[in-house]
Amino acid sequence: MLRRIFIALSQSETLRRFAVRFGPARRMARRFIAGETLDEAIAVVRELNQHGILATLDHLGENVATEADAERSVGEYQDLLHRIAAEQVQSTISGKLTHVGLHFGEEFCLDPARAIVQTAKALGIGVEIDIEGSEYTQMTLNIFHCLLNEYQNLRLALQSYLFRTERDLEELIRRGTSVRLCKGAYDEPATIAWREKEGVDASYARLVDLMFSEQVRKSGFYPAVATHDHKLILHAERVVAELDASKDQFEFQMLHGVRRDWQQRLTRDGYRVRVYVPYGTRWYPYFMRRLAERPANVLLMARAFLGK
Ligand SMILES: Cc1cc2nc3c(=O)[nH]c(=O)nc-3n(C[C@H](O)[C@H](O)[C@H](O)COP(=O)(O)OP(=O)(O)OC[C@H]3O[C@@H](n4cnc5c(N)ncnc54)[C@H](O)[C@@H]3O)c2cc1C
Repeated sequence: MLRRIFIALSQSETLRRFAVRFGPARRMARRFIAGETLDEAIAVVRELNQHGILATLDHLGENVATEADAERSVGEYQDLLHRIAAEQVQSTISGKLTHVGLHFGEEFCLDPARAIVQTAKALGIGVEIDIEGSEYTQMTLNIFHCLLNEYQNLRLALQSYLFRTERDLEELIRRGTSVRLCKGAYDEPATIAWREKEGVDASYARLVDLMFSEQVRKSGFYPAVATHDHKLILHAERVVAELDASKDQFEFQMLHGVRRDWQQRLTRDGYRVRVYVPYGTRWYPYFMRRLAERPANVLLMARAFLGK
């Protein structure tokens, strides 16, 4: 219930305007956001790299207001890519297709998305495409498959809470690409998604089994296990150990500011770990989704509001 409320509030423009000016909200958001500037984000990535952890930098933004904004986002992402290359930090980039105009139509979005992937390819940097609410799932997959015809430096996020994901994953496995498996951060109806934790987690475990099956492992497909759920991380570790798979054939991914103890533990144990590092001034919806994931965060937020 709380989750639904926070996800609904994440779309409020009035609250967004208020939150970005409100000191306690900004301070609280800093737990999950590397900073509002690229300099701050690069400093976070550098520190992760020094501890043996890879990064993926997300220049925050989604559902841009105009087509001109979508085109501006391309330039911003290209600046980010050049900066990653110049600083020689180990990071891919992540982003949402609605940041480059998916909501204006698939045809509109393909060119801006391609321009970013092209620049990334020229600089030898990977591009990870986030997965958004279910109204965009099919369009996101269509664009991803289209880009895959031209480029290999790609990874797509999929959500274990959606019933359709097993089918989508099988198709992506056939194409020998890379998938970041997460649970899903939006509020989806029971007609298309598991809504209870048990269902979402059981689906996640099944999809991990699929991604790591013997046959898939030999196909060149590269899985990224993106969760902070220790039971599912341990499940993935067990599956990998049973298969005797090499630790460089997959990676774990986590969010900046969440379960640093597990990020360090997995790195110490020789796994490849990548942290999702979001930055920028448009942090409000991302922050609200992080609050929605964990009731305790809402309590912390309430305390911050009350100045306690
Ligand atoms: C690298 C990465 C990329 C992602 N990309 C996408 C995407 O493209 N699309 C999408 O829909 N979702 C994405 N997500 C979010 C994901 O879908 C989940 O909403 C989120 O990760 C919480 O689920 P969980 O797997 O951590 O499990 P949960 O069962 O929610 O959490 C397990 C434990 O992790 C800790 N934890 C989890 N979330 C938080 C939090 N916000 N604050 C504090 N502690 C927390 C708690 O200790 C909790 O008990 C991504 C997640 C990761 C890690």
